Amino acid sequence: MTVRTILSLKGREVATILPQATLAEAARLLSEKRIGAVVVTGAGQAVAGILSERDIVRALSKHGAGALAHTVESVMTSEVVTCTPEETIPSLMQRMTAGRFRHVPVVEHGRLAGIVSVGDVVKHRLEEMERESQALKEYIATA
Ligand code: AMP
Repeated sequence: MTVRTILSLKGREVATILPQATLAEAARLLSEKRIGAVVVTGAGQAVAGILSERDIVRALSKHGAGALAHTVESVMTSEVVTCTPEETIPSLMQRMTAGRFRHVPVVEHGRLAGIVSVGDVVKHRLEEMERESQALKEYIATA
């Protein structure tokens, strides 16, 4: 099973924001879309960074409410770890666990092609385990 399987089920829509947007705008976007991270895109939709709710919390704790007027680019993570649709789910889970982040943008042919969250990965893995368990039960019942 690969990232492509998850994308085929959840779709390829990615919430993006400009580097010059404020943290208040980013927080509103996260809240409206009920998501935990947005991809920061520059000219030509290239991935310039990623901003998660954790980055906003960190900025608020450091600077107080005034942080909401700061720009996304001053807080975002610029070195973004991405994956391709061909990456396997266990490999992606391993990289997310090792890197301690919960969101990975999918890039295909140099373009943003989706985003996978740890929630998507866990949901997929649970469904897979459920199918395996069901197949095993059926095998035992008919053996
Ligand atoms: P998260 O667990 O996704 O809320 O993010 C935790 C921290 O990792 C935040 O500082 C994010 O900016 C950063 N982060 C999230 N996703 C990635 C990623 N794919 N590559 C690099 N850093 C990331």
